[in-house]
Amino acid sequence: MSRIGVFICHCGTNIAATVDVEAVAAAARKLPEVVHVETNKYTCSDPGQEGLRQAIVDHGIDRVVVAACSPRMHEATWRKLLADTPVNPYMLEVANIREQCSWVHKDRSVATEKAIDLVKMAVAKVARLQPLHSTEIPVHKRALVIGGGIAGMQTALDIADAGFPVTIVERETSLGGKMVMLDKTFPTMDCSACICTPKMSEVGNHPNITVKTLAEVENVSGYIGNFEVTIREKAKYIDYNLCTGCGACETKCPVRVDSDFEQGMKKRTAIYKMFPQAVPAKPVIDAAHCRKLTEGKCGVCARVCPTGAIRYDDEDKVTTETYGAIIFATGYQLIDWKPLYPEYGGGKYPDVITGLQFERLVNASGPTEGHILRPSDGTEPKTVVIVKCVGSRDPTKGKAYCSRACCMYSAKHAHQYLEKVSDGRCYVFYMDVRTPGKGYDEFYVNTVHEGAQYLRGRVSKIFKEGDKLICKGEDTLTSRQVSVAADMVVLETAMVPADGIDELAAKCTVGRDADSWLVEAHAKLRPVETNTAGIYLAGTCQGPKDIPDTVCQAGAAASKVIGLLNKDMLQSNPQISRVNESLCQGDGACVNTCPYGAISIVQKQFRENSKKVTRPVAQVNPGLCQGCGACTVTCRAGAMDLLGYTNESIMREVDALCQW
Ligand SMILES: Cc1cc2nc3c(=O)[nH]c(=O)nc-3n(C[C@H](O)[C@H](O)[C@H](O)COP(=O)(O)OP(=O)(O)OC[C@H]3O[C@@H](n4cnc5c(N)ncnc54)[C@H](O)[C@@H]3O)c2cc1C
Ligand code: SF4
Ligand code: SF4
Repeated sequence: MSRIGVFICHCGTNIAATVDVEAVAAAARKLPEVVHVETNKYTCSDPGQEGLRQAIVDHGIDRVVVAACSPRMHEATWRKLLADTPVNPYMLEVANIREQCSWVHKDRSVATEKAIDLVKMAVAKVARLQPLHSTEIPVHKRALVIGGGIAGMQTALDIADAGFPVTIVERETSLGGKMVMLDKTFPTMDCSACICTPKMSEVGNHPNITVKTLAEVENVSGYIGNFEVTIREKAKYIDYNLCTGCGACETKCPVRVDSDFEQGMKKRTAIYKMFPQAVPAKPVIDAAHCRKLTEGKCGVCARVCPTGAIRYDDEDKVTTETYGAIIFATGYQLIDWKPLYPEYGGGKYPDVITGLQFERLVNASGPTEGHILRPSDGTEPKTVVIVKCVGSRDPTKGKAYCSRACCMYSAKHAHQYLEKVSDGRCYVFYMDVRTPGKGYDEFYVNTVHEGAQYLRGRVSKIFKEGDKLICKGEDTLTSRQVSVAADMVVLETAMVPADGIDELAAKCTVGRDADSWLVEAHAKLRPVETNTAGIYLAGTCQGPKDIPDTVCQAGAAASKVIGLLNKDMLQSNPQISRVNESLCQGDGACVNTCPYGAISIVQKQFRENSKKVTRPVAQVNPGLCQGCGACTVTCRAGAMDLLGYTNESIMREVDALCQW
């Protein structure tokens, strides 16, 4: 016989205003195996907790039911309290008589009856719970950051400054991400490169940070504190121990290809640094375009390199290392608008450009040295149209969501254009203007005062007439058709997740939403954690945001990781799945269901009918299992059980509801 204590909370008037708490207590006193019932104004308060602790001693209680708010709020509080008493912390059941009862009912008698049922079910369940014990998992005190944009760099610096080694895996040839491509940043208009490149150097020179560029994560296994990560660093064809970054090779290479960094508006060589301040400040050879590597000809860079650093026979390097935590900082890319918007020319007009191209055009070190010139003929555009929400807030063509930063950077683009072209005219087509940030609305209002003409409506068509781009749309405020003859059009296109994110997230069992943004564990309460313990999110990989929000989130993710790496050992969650091997048929349905890859099928020997037989059975990796219970409902043989939520205990709850 167990000895159950039931503690029922008024939660001030939150529960007591709708539920007759004393009636619930009276009903609980009649339940089998209940030896003590008490009510409290606030069970979670210090006196409430002390009362619970004392009652355990006074009444020899060995199982506890707390009827109060959602277990999400205080289950951890009660478990912690029980850990200091003779009661096992898992001999606890929380009956949610607030969120699932008093807050959703108005009728007091109905709510009271339901609260009584919830307590009955909790008592029935707790009566057969078994004690559970955590094991200790060691923590590898190193972190892996995937992505070297501003989010990844900030996260890495914060963790490294706290004394822990960090590896950044960046798939481009340099750190910096999109921020280093931008000209100036709203609302303060500080030079983006001037604030980004010092961070890049700090990361590159930090004794606790290893930067792997031209690198990607190939495989991830393991669990919190112990992730085994395989990283492929692609061949750079340069020995970085010898290369001094002098650049002699770049000046002599005869190949010219479009520069991605300059958004296709400038050429680079086949041996190249992404941009002058790149970190690492050393070149790589683009194997797809190098004449030596494609045709066996040329070899000029090897001849001119003063240190003999060129290695045409270089190969990819694949390493596997263990990390305690992983941070996704894989950022965003801009939607490919061309196939989606044939009515805007679908890419056939060179003077219809994207916001990122405009950033390079207006930048002093960009393709036009900061002069705003049309890509088609190099003339200064006297009329510019900026079109917002291209691919954003447009579920019929692009994405239903708002890309958040574009309202502000389109105002920035209008301001930059009017500043540089004093006799220019700028029209901004918009659906709404969203400026919820410090100094943001003031920035937008100033841009309007500077002469930017905002027209509320989408552009329906862009076509060429002579050397003008005719932008037709509707001004929905005056209900009139408008037509602007522009010299250049800037499309502020939607942010979408980085290429390949689905595959990478699947390797790490990180959830994605319908648009492939990575999903946080809880939108409000755990915004930088994922549902996979030990994996965190920083920056725009979680959804569109601007730089201030990105940096905030990066700092928040770093602080979570520092908290984790500061521990030598972690307590494992004992509420995980367990296989009943005698029932298991080894069909692997659970393997395919488990979102965390925690189950595998192994061959095991058994003695059955006095004979030795070898047959497949499921095996749960306790480090990977997150206790979600998906496997228990999948297993047709009923061989999977979740400790703390066993099939038997759930059935007891159902029986209590139906029979008593
Ligand atoms: C035109 C334009 C103008 C903008 N202007 C402003 C502004 O003025 N002010 C402002 O606050 N914000 C502005 N923004 C928004 C700003 O660019 C973002 O907030 C910021 O760059 C987000 O940083 P991030 O590190 O999250 O992502 P990113 O900058 O995208 O960095 C992600 C990094 O991860 C790498 N990566 C991706 N996938 C992998 C992988 N699988 N493995 C390894 N590495 C990977 C990428 O190569 C990249 O280096 C602007 C955006 C645009 C498009
Ligand atoms: S060998 Fe390749 S990278 Fe080197 S100079 Fe020739 S084309 Fe350029
Ligand atoms: S010439 Fe040699 S040392 Fe100089 S940047 Fe090129 S590879 Fe490096």
